[in-house]
Amino acid sequence: MATAEQTHCNRCGAPLVRDAAYCDRCGERTNRARRLVRLTARVEILFVLLILALVLGFAYVYAIQKP
Ligand SMILES: [Zn+2]
Repeated sequence: MATAEQTHCNRCGAPLVRDAAYCDRCGERTNRARRLVRLTARVEILFVLLILALVLGFAYVYAIQKP
């Protein structure tokens, strides 16, 4: 992911501090923050699916082991 670093706010055009997640002037989220939020959401979904698979797997094993 080689995206050019965002240097100005999308909403108000104020210059952004390097690696800033939010605009100092208007509080708008930067592209970097948006990307991080998307990534976090994806990881959370994967995590939930993993737990679900584990629970279902154990339930299945438990069910077929019953006499
Ligand atoms: Zn701004």
